[in-house]
Amino acid sequence: MTSYAPVYLALVGVLAAFSFYLVRRRRLGGWSTLLVFASVFPVAVAVELSHVERERGEAKLQASRELNLIANRLNGLVGSHIAAGEGLAAYIATHPDLSRSEFEEFARVVFLRHPHLINLAAAPDMVISMIYPLQGNEAAVGLDYRRTPSQRDAVLRARERREAVLAGPVQLVQGGLGLLGRLPVFVREGGAGEFWGIVSATMDARGIFEAAGLTSGKSKLEIALRGLDGLGERGEVFFGDAELFSDAGTIHLPVLADWGEWIMAARYPAPPALARSVWFLRLLGLMVAAGWLIGLEQRQRARNNKRYYEKRLRASEQLMQEAGKLAGVAGWRIDKDSELLHFSEQFGNIIGLPVRECAHRGEVMAPLSAKGRKELTRAVNDSFGNGTPFDFELPVERGDSTQWLRIMGRPVLQEGKVDEVVGAIQDVTERREFIQTIQHQATCDSLTGLPNRHQFDSFLEHELATAVRRGQRVAVLYIDIDEFKSVNDNIGHRGGDLMLIEAAARIQACIRDCDIVARLSGDEFAVILSDIQSVNGASVVAAKVVAAMSQPFEIDSRQIFSSASVGVALYPVDGEDAETLLINADQAMYEVKKSLRNDFTVFTRELHRRSEARHRMFNELSLAVSQRQLEVHYQPIVPLDGSGVMGCEALVRWRNGDTYVAPDAFIPLAEETGLIIEIDRFALSEATAFVQSLGAFGLEPPALSVNVSPRIFFDRAGEMTRWTEHVRECAQSIDLTLELTERLLTQDTPEASVVLQKLRAQGVKIAIDDFGTGYSSLSYLAKFPIDTLKVDAFFVGKIPEDASAVTLTETILSLGQKLSLRVVAEGVESVEQLEFLKRHGCQAAQGYWLGRPMAPEAFRDWLAAREEKAPRAGSVA
Ligand code: C2E
Ligand code: CA
Ligand code: CA
Repeated sequence: MTSYAPVYLALVGVLAAFSFYLVRRRRLGGWSTLLVFASVFPVAVAVELSHVERERGEAKLQASRELNLIANRLNGLVGSHIAAGEGLAAYIATHPDLSRSEFEEFARVVFLRHPHLINLAAAPDMVISMIYPLQGNEAAVGLDYRRTPSQRDAVLRARERREAVLAGPVQLVQGGLGLLGRLPVFVREGGAGEFWGIVSATMDARGIFEAAGLTSGKSKLEIALRGLDGLGERGEVFFGDAELFSDAGTIHLPVLADWGEWIMAARYPAPPALARSVWFLRLLGLMVAAGWLIGLEQRQRARNNKRYYEKRLRASEQLMQEAGKLAGVAGWRIDKDSELLHFSEQFGNIIGLPVRECAHRGEVMAPLSAKGRKELTRAVNDSFGNGTPFDFELPVERGDSTQWLRIMGRPVLQEGKVDEVVGAIQDVTERREFIQTIQHQATCDSLTGLPNRHQFDSFLEHELATAVRRGQRVAVLYIDIDEFKSVNDNIGHRGGDLMLIEAAARIQACIRDCDIVARLSGDEFAVILSDIQSVNGASVVAAKVVAAMSQPFEIDSRQIFSSASVGVALYPVDGEDAETLLINADQAMYEVKKSLRNDFTVFTRELHRRSEARHRMFNELSLAVSQRQLEVHYQPIVPLDGSGVMGCEALVRWRNGDTYVAPDAFIPLAEETGLIIEIDRFALSEATAFVQSLGAFGLEPPALSVNVSPRIFFDRAGEMTRWTEHVRECAQSIDLTLELTERLLTQDTPEASVVLQKLRAQGVKIAIDDFGTGYSSLSYLAKFPIDTLKVDAFFVGKIPEDASAVTLTETILSLGQKLSLRVVAEGVESVEQLEFLKRHGCQAAQGYWLGRPMAPEAFRDWLAAREEKAPRAGSVA
């Protein structure tokens, strides 16, 4: 049983260690774990001890019972054998002189009933005279007890005590272990009786022991007997292990009889079932402790989980609150039966209610307008009734400002019915205001406050739709302030802005209230005149606008003179949709711009035709440019003073089908549309390559002049840089002159001046084309790095008839001389003109008389023929 104790302790240890681990991991409470161990195991030990005790007691009782039984049997067996002897003794007491045959007869009968009897003897006067059976016992006949010390004591004791005495067990002379019963016989006659002698009954001790169950081997008891000669405690141990009497764990039992006393000692076996039941108890204890700990662990885990979720819940609640505050959102919930509205703290903040958890819905809705209340009530009722969610915005008047609330609601369906509607409110005032601002910005011009282009389009469309229904006419005026750029340059952008505001007001003043004015872009305005009777009505307004705009503007106490060009288009004659009308009004305005400005024009069929033709040409030209279908022709520039270098001017040609389109017909269009930049680039690279190629034909490459559109100086910055690079590259291999019109130089373009200075420094020459036709100011001659003046063909062609042309040419030539500029005369068509120019010191000339613009091959041949005539000469033929 105890051999299992270490296993048990180990198991308890494992449980304790595991519990300790769980305590460390906070999965078990320390005190409660201690409680488990402190209560379960002591109880288990106590139960186990009492159980063991009981089992032991049971075993002892069982052993006592068995021992008792054996004692009784011993007592009975010995007693009955002694009784047999007593029967003989009693017979002799009445028949003292019994005969041998009587004795034998008596003994024979007794022997039959007492199987353990070895012999019966009668010894009158202590000397054995008769013995049964005689056979084997002959030696005993005549034995005097008084003279036999080993037997004398017991015999004398029996005589003295006048009762039976047991002696032995002793080793018998005839073999075996015998118990000797000594019975004193007193003859009855004569009162007290006179001692007759001794009757002896010798018993087989081993047989009796076996019969009593001492040696049967059936009993599990280990037994010892003491009390030799029936002396009890005083007698020696005569059976079994003497140790049993000193062992505390044995039971003792006396066998008390008339013949003396024996004492039995027995050792009983441990209860066999004890180990298993204790093991069961211990396991039970372990299981109870483990179960309890598992329960505690579960509870702790549940508690930990609860704590964890509570923490998370608190955190997420806080997050929701923060987010709600940030977004101006709050939650609410309304109960169908109680009509109570439950809400968060944030809700109170938004709607301006004191902090509470709930309120009656009527109270919460109080700040809303009557209409808002109605709408919200209907939405909530619908939600309860039909389960429809809602989401809309409502205004709440708060003094002189308006708060906008977005209210969202959703029914909560439970078991098929709606008892609750949950939702959120959000303060969307800022967003509303922002959208309004954006809408205003999207539709109105921020400077003048007028509708913008986008808004104008929708107004016009709306007006036209009305006009269609009512059969009315509508006029569109396209107004552009003339030379606004220079106004801006002169008085600054702020001044320009003020002027635009004033212009808007003036236009507004010219129209009726029902008409609309809008600002389309920078200095462009448009007017819609609704329901006009005739074109005259529109013309009157247009004239009024032109007149109003030509009045001086007073800006920052400065008088600014300006004007406007106005184009007029009419619905339905000039266009049936908004876009066409506006384009046509713009077209008419453009006509004014092309002439004198400061006027108005009404759109006409002719205008329309021209506009269409322009449009067509633009498409074709774009195609020609992109497919490099243009050609470059070369016109010689011939030196007249005999020293200069032969040159040529590159002139672009556009062959459209079989005919060439005149440059005057497409160059202005290309200028307007910006295509000219691509054309100039093409002409420059083509001409440079051509001039370079001439060397391969053994010809001296002439100087090259290319025309440069002023547009390049006004276009995007990137474009000009690219162009400058290109020019520089070309000038590295050839003698290059750029021909610029006077107009560019008279306009204040600081960039142009810088760029030209740079190019000049890198060897590029600059010529003024068409000199004399344009502008009066000559100051630019000093500002720009100019090499050459080209006298316009207009003057040269009138020489010599026209006196003023002659004078002007002479003047230009002398101006050139004075400023050390080379002068080239253009359009020389006759020998007289040539002679005149030579006489007046003109350095070079260009014209049909000297050479027409030629295709590259023709020009090459021309050059070759010329060199043949006058090799490497500069003089004229
Ligand atoms: P421009 O620069 O003044 O070119 C000279 C114009 O006079 C050329 O007209 C030429 O054919 C013409 N011409 C030459 N000799 C005579 C003559 O004896 N009598 C008459 N009546 N005219 C003569 P074209 O080729 O028609 O060019 C017209 C204008 O187109 C050029 O005037 C120039 O301003 C522009 N242009 C031509 N090619 C280009 C080009 O590649 N780029 C730019 N930007 N403009 C170009
Ligand atoms: Ca030119
Ligand atoms: Ca020219």
